[in-house]
This record gives sequence, structure tokens and C-alpha cells, in this order.
Amino acid sequence: MSEKIKAGRSREEKKHPFFLGRLLRRAVPAALVLAVLVPTALAIGLEASLSQTRAELDRLQESSAAAAGNFLAGDGGVWQRPEPGGTDGSAAPPQETEPAQDSVRDPGPEVPAYQALYPELYAGEHEWNTVNKKKVCYLTFDDGPSARTPEVLEILERYGVKATFFVVGKDTEQSRQWMKQIVDAGHTIGVHSYTHTYRKIYASVEAYLEDFAREYHIIEEATGVAPQIFRFPGGSINAYNGHIYQEIVAEMTRRGFVYFDWNRSNGDAVRKPPAAPVLAQNALDRLGASSRVVVLMHDSKGHATTVAALPAIIEGYQNAGYTLEALTPEVRPIVYAYPNP
Ligand SMILES: [Zn+2]
Repeated sequence: MSEKIKAGRSREEKKHPFFLGRLLRRAVPAALVLAVLVPTALAIGLEASLSQTRAELDRLQESSAAAAGNFLAGDGGVWQRPEPGGTDGSAAPPQETEPAQDSVRDPGPEVPAYQALYPELYAGEHEWNTVNKKKVCYLTFDDGPSARTPEVLEILERYGVKATFFVVGKDTEQSRQWMKQIVDAGHTIGVHSYTHTYRKIYASVEAYLEDFAREYHIIEEATGVAPQIFRFPGGSINAYNGHIYQEIVAEMTRRGFVYFDWNRSNGDAVRKPPAAPVLAQNALDRLGASSRVVVLMHDSKGHATTVAALPAIIEGYQNAGYTLEALTPEVRPIVYAYPNP
């Protein structure tokens, strides 16, 4: 500021006894400072409380995601049939408590039409994944019942052990009787398939459900027991269902059913099954390496050596300290891991 202007102002101030100009010159910068400082301080305060809220929200989302994960993993959650109309398979939140939430709620993926098929096809209430015993062997027989079933039942009874039968088709009186004998003896019966024709059942989710429902109803009518567990023909991931297994697994899990693959096999799933000692050796392979063993075997007329090998298999596991039990929907499943995409 030049001396000339300073002198001019000084003269001006002298002209106005109330020093209005000086007052204005001081007040305006002060107001400007206030106008900048106050909103800045407010903004900083708001930002702080906002980030606090965000952190809170993150923690809540994390814990609810963890809870969902626990349920999906079956860690002690109780499965109950979802309420009809729920878009995500879970019960809709009560309307009266949070009405505003509905208007902003993500609608999620479209509900597939097959969820409405077979409304009776839901597993009864059960816990998930609450049985995780050590040193336990689950003998499983696929593709029965058959003329071999009574022989298998006799051996299981002799040793006082329980097993699991994943049954197929054969809607005959004889087949129904064998199914009833399985259940009456205290073993578990599960759905395998009605047709057991890979190309047919893995053509679509609808085709899978149709086949499953047919066998489910035969079992229920024959035994009075509605099955809760099942085994996929060919295992949960096989050469025929790569395009669709995730969707089928999701739909069957939504309906409350539990599936089991296997981690041992007696090797009898071949056209000409090996002799009994070979089958027993296969089933007892790496004995002790797994604390929980699910052994795959087959029950059909042609599987005489499977029956013959059974005592050696039972004794082998018992001698190694294993108990032999039947699968239930509460047993932590042994399932194939999803392959890398
Ligand atoms: Zn099979």
C-alpha cells in the first residue's frame, strides 16, 4: 500500500467523525473469515461422525455376513422351510417394524420359476452340521434296493452297526418291502435317483427335481419316512452336470436337503466287480488317514462280492477304532470341493 493512499485514507477518516470506513474495513474481513471458518469446522465435525457411522455399518455388515456364512456352512444353524414369497429364500422381514427398508431394499436376483415346483418337496426341519464325530465310518450303498439288500441288512445286524442306503427307481412291491426293511432296521434311507440316467436328470434343474421328486415319493410311501439326505448320481460334480451342478446344489440346499459324496470306495462300480478281498482292501485303503470316512459301495443283484467283502470292511474299521454309523442330515457332509473355474 503506497504512502499516498495511506495519507488519503487518513484524511478521509478525519472527515468522518464516526470512523465508518475504518469500521467497515475491519468488519468485512472478519465476516469473511467467519464465513469460511464456521462451515469448515462444521464439515470437519460431520465428516468425523460420518466416518464413525460408516465404521459401525461395516462392522454390522461383517458380522451379519459372518452369521450368514455360519448358516450356509451349516455350523449349528437350524434349517426351516422358507416362508412363501421370500425373494432370497429367507423369511421376509416383518412389515410393521421397518417399512421404509422395503422401498430401498435390493430386490436381489430374479427368483427362478422352479422354486415353485413341487411345493411338498422340502426336507423336514433339522439342524445343519452339528454332528462332527471323530473316527467314524459311514458305509453307504447306492443303487439299491435289490435282492442283495436283505443279505446286507443281515450282516449289519450281526455286527450291530448302522449304514445308509441311497436308493433308486424300482417302483415295485418287492422294492417297497426292501425299503421298509432298511428303515425298520434303523438305517438311513436317502434319495439317489429314479431313472439314474445322467443325461436326463442333469438336463435342467426342472428335470433333476422331477426325477428326485418321483423317488422321494416312492420312499415316503414305502417307508413312511420322508428322506432328508441324498446322493447325486455320479457324485455332486461329474462329467454330466458341470453346467448346472451349482444351481441344483443351491436349489436342493434351499429346500433343506443335505447331500453326501464320499472319500473312500470299495471299487465295485465296474462292469465286472473284483473279488471280495480286493473290494475290502479298497474300502480299507489309507485306514486311519481320515477321521471321518464315507465309503461308497453298491447294492444290486450283480454285487455279490460287495456283500461278501462287507464283514472284512466292518471288522477293519472297528479294529482301527472307528464306529460305524448311519448318515443323518445333521452330519457334517463330506462333499467334493468345487473345482477351479
Ligand atoms: Zn448310482
